[in-house]
Amino acid sequence: MPAVKASRPLQACAAVCLLVSTVLLSSAGRSAAMAAEPSGAAMRALIVDGQNNHANWPQTTRMMRKYLEDSGLFAVDVVTHAAKGEDPAFQPAFADYAVVVSNFGHGAAAWPAETRKAFEDYVRGGGGFVAVHAADNSFPEWAAYNQMIGLGGWGGRNEKSGPYVYYTDEGRLVRDTSPGAGGAHGPQAEFAVVIRDGSHPITKGMPGTWMHANDELYDSLRGPADNLQVLATAYSIRTKRHEPMMMTISYGQGRVFHTPMGHGNDSQECVGFITALQRGAAWAATGTTDLPLPADFPTADGPRRRKFAPTSSPAGVPATAK
Ligand code: ZN
Repeated sequence: MPAVKASRPLQACAAVCLLVSTVLLSSAGRSAAMAAEPSGAAMRALIVDGQNNHANWPQTTRMMRKYLEDSGLFAVDVVTHAAKGEDPAFQPAFADYAVVVSNFGHGAAAWPAETRKAFEDYVRGGGGFVAVHAADNSFPEWAAYNQMIGLGGWGGRNEKSGPYVYYTDEGRLVRDTSPGAGGAHGPQAEFAVVIRDGSHPITKGMPGTWMHANDELYDSLRGPADNLQVLATAYSIRTKRHEPMMMTISYGQGRVFHTPMGHGNDSQECVGFITALQRGAAWAATGTTDLPLPADFPTADGPRRRKFAPTSSPAGVPATAK
């Protein structure tokens, strides 16, 4: 795997990068550490988790950690919030990372005010952020967070949160401001993902249509949708509209990749999800990615899954709601 092949050069580079970073940190301040790393260098990624309505979140954190490491691009840390209530000690050093991935979910307690501020400063200043599945349920009252994710669901979100963004059958992007609740989904199923912009580094080379493994198809997401680009959609039989499945958002100097895919362990075993996560994280961190499309990438004929191992928690634990 790339991570193994690259381990020795990465170690060597890490020492050099540390020296360079030390100089940069002392001369130009901390924000310099967030500058894009040269291709092939080890970047630091952070997964934050701890409160999620999906009982399988510890397992999906393990899965996403391994996927990011398997890309050969990232060394991954995890910072876990207290399981219940607010957590004054939740103060990740966001500025130390090229990208932050959220595995929070519906009903998560508000982060401490200073942590929210640090996160806003981090992304606005050029940090990368990746929101996966129920991360777009989190923090409906946090205006800057809603700006970052572009669209969200549940938590009282409605037309006051912003437009419902979808594609028509004719391929027209609609920003629907009519009244309605934000966030819903039908029964889990395999579904087709349709690429809307195949020229973006995240989607480049993907088949125009590919089958995603069993998942919840989020629909009717609402939010500010500022500086939002929809890269891919999926047709919802519930709404009869084409719902965003891969999005990019710019927030200040920062880049955000948002996918509402990734409900269950089986959803995250989809090679399409894995590739989107790896490429999305790399793009959020650096502004580009040249990660190749894997040979087992799904096609329009059917999904492709990689059975995740090791598995140390029950597979397929259903979420309670979102
Ligand atoms: Zn879910």
